[in-house]
Amino acid sequence: MRAEDALTAATTAATEWHQTPRTQQGPRRSVEEIYGADVFGPRVMRERLPKETYKAFMRTIEQGERLDPSVADVIASVMKDWAIERGATHFTHWFQPLTGSTAEKHDAMLIPAGNGEVVTQFSGADLVQGEPDASSFPSGGLRATFEARGYTAWDPTSPAFIVRGPNHGTLCIPTAFVSWTGEALDKKTPLLRSIDAISKQAMRILALFGTDEGVRSVRTSLGTEQEYFLVDRNLYFARPDLVTCDRTLFGAKPPKGQELEDHYFGAIPQRVIAYMAEVEEELYRLGVPVKTRHNEVAPGQYEIAPIFEETNVACDHQMLVMEVLKRVAPRYGLQAILHEKPFAGVNGSGKHNNWSLATDTGVNLLDPRDEAHTNLQFMVFLCAVIRAVDLHADILRASIASAANDHRLGANEAPPAIISIYLGDMLTDLLEQLEKGTPKRTLKGGALDLGARTLPQIPRHSGDRNRTSPFAFTGNKFEFRAVGSSAAVSWPNTVMNTIVAESLDFIATELERAVAGKARKDSLESACKKILKAIVKEHKRVVFNGDGYSESWQIEAEKRGLPNLKDSIAAFRVLGSRQARALFKKYKVLKPAELESRVSIFYEKYTKQIQIESEQMVLMGRQLILPAAVRHQIELAEAVMAREGADIDAAEAREDLRAFCDLVDRFRQKIDALDQLDDASPEGDPVRHAEYLKNKVIPTMDDCRELGDQLETHISADLWPLPTYRELLFIR
Ligand code: ADP
Ligand code: MG
Repeated sequence: MRAEDALTAATTAATEWHQTPRTQQGPRRSVEEIYGADVFGPRVMRERLPKETYKAFMRTIEQGERLDPSVADVIASVMKDWAIERGATHFTHWFQPLTGSTAEKHDAMLIPAGNGEVVTQFSGADLVQGEPDASSFPSGGLRATFEARGYTAWDPTSPAFIVRGPNHGTLCIPTAFVSWTGEALDKKTPLLRSIDAISKQAMRILALFGTDEGVRSVRTSLGTEQEYFLVDRNLYFARPDLVTCDRTLFGAKPPKGQELEDHYFGAIPQRVIAYMAEVEEELYRLGVPVKTRHNEVAPGQYEIAPIFEETNVACDHQMLVMEVLKRVAPRYGLQAILHEKPFAGVNGSGKHNNWSLATDTGVNLLDPRDEAHTNLQFMVFLCAVIRAVDLHADILRASIASAANDHRLGANEAPPAIISIYLGDMLTDLLEQLEKGTPKRTLKGGALDLGARTLPQIPRHSGDRNRTSPFAFTGNKFEFRAVGSSAAVSWPNTVMNTIVAESLDFIATELERAVAGKARKDSLESACKKILKAIVKEHKRVVFNGDGYSESWQIEAEKRGLPNLKDSIAAFRVLGSRQARALFKKYKVLKPAELESRVSIFYEKYTKQIQIESEQMVLMGRQLILPAAVRHQIELAEAVMAREGADIDAAEAREDLRAFCDLVDRFRQKIDALDQLDDASPEGDPVRHAEYLKNKVIPTMDDCRELGDQLETHISADLWPLPTYRELLFIR
């Protein structure tokens, strides 16, 4: 679409949306009515399954017992009837290949009956196992294309659901995806393994404290806050960079961006809130407990956050949140952009990953409670996390590395690339006490007196918030804020679980040794204090409560010996280390070959993404920006000639023309240089290729962008061929 037509269409759409009278609005259906309506979850199963089947199934979910094939047959048959009643015609095994998105291949739930008719069918075997062609998904060298066999295996711990739309309804069954040789080809399998690993180690700690009674497992909980941008879809289609790369490759800074800080938590525009409500309705139907919505810092930027859930389900639900955000937007003439940095000069998008540990009976193990200093078990879990994050800061950093996230991390806005922990006053004080000996007090926040008689006194938290920390303790959970907005969260959580499992293992082993054969209570207490003291001493360097964006922190962090992996390439390297291999192997999360395959896919994704961007940039430079520049150049030249023809002094006009021509020439040269670099790419070895892109291509892209943006501010508006930042960010 031409920029001009797009702009007309966009402004018309926006105007119409805002003319809709308020009286026609309001929720269409109550949440109670629709929540979980499309989920084959425990409630439906309790109602519909024979009692024995239901019990057997719950034993699988709660105790990890293997599912009997006959049980699967019964469940499949009930599931089929339920799905068909709700308008589903097809089923699919829904999985998370290493591409970072989800995959599905649909099959109709029917077979020929032999008499020219068909009957519906969906068997236990259909439910439990599928066989997609593994060679069509990235395997990072795990599978050669001639060895194509791969299996999907039903994950009964994440409920099946129906995805519906015009003319279709599809029963989606969450599955793991593995190769014929049993290697994980997806993101779910290692996540499930890491959940087992951390549960096993955490249970040892609970057993030591005697708090494991009635507890069958320890789970991690996850709540993800998703940031995203919305742009008018007409404008989106007029931006080849947004369509191809989900981010703008050019775009001059508008006079007004986020400077006035008037967007964050501002009133949500009518079209946007109507969109949000429909997103929420779809997610409620799918049983995703979304709770929070608001404007984010940048104009055109928003956030959606669910209530936390068990991590495996939360990760599946996160994928659904991203899908639904994208799917619903066009119905409102909008495009949802999940890229980490769609617009230069305004805030990028992240996905805060709120993580905690809880027993299956619902006790949050990272809740300090009122008198934290008496809560030794809490201190053990807290110190286990601190130790894990310090010891494996590099692997944690690597878990969120991507070409897109490189634009955010360390770029003076979102969390820095240095992994540190914000603890706040209360816990920092607690650690200091631990280091000295026995903690004797818990700092209290007290109450806040607002000074106006009619306002209530409100309790104050014991510490302020810190928005600049990549990893912050926020009351009863840790918030990992460096995760990218487009990322699948299963991988960073796999890493979190594994590194904390290792720390819990370390502490449990020490404690078990110390209490062996001794009177339990006293020896446990003194052993705990001893080991926690040592952990604090050794790992407190990772705790930082100050301003993570400041220059001085970079210097201070280096003094403390904290790794500062500035970009993805530096981070990926870590995953190839002996330590990383040993860690994932020891806790049976990833075999060395599985880890290796992931690393090579990370490189591959990185190189492909940048290559696509740079090729797109060359095309935009040549097909859109240069032609506009040449036209503008002609106009300037004509103006010079007109003046000269009329015998008016043309010196300044000629100077303008000269300066402009010079800018155009420099732009053309840079675009040509980028094109040549693309042609000379050393493909084949992904590591070398990635380094080449980082060292040669990205700096040239930056140059092209700078010159292109200068051109934008000089070329007359009616000749400029792209919707501008002002239009993209403010038409809504
Ligand atoms: P914000 O960080 O925007 O101030 P909150 O701190 O209130 O918001 O919560 C953000 C997210 O943290 C929500 O998704 C919430 O469900 C999640 N959360 C709260 N408690 C836990 C927990 N125990 N485990 C995991 N996530 C949690
Ligand atoms: Mg948050």
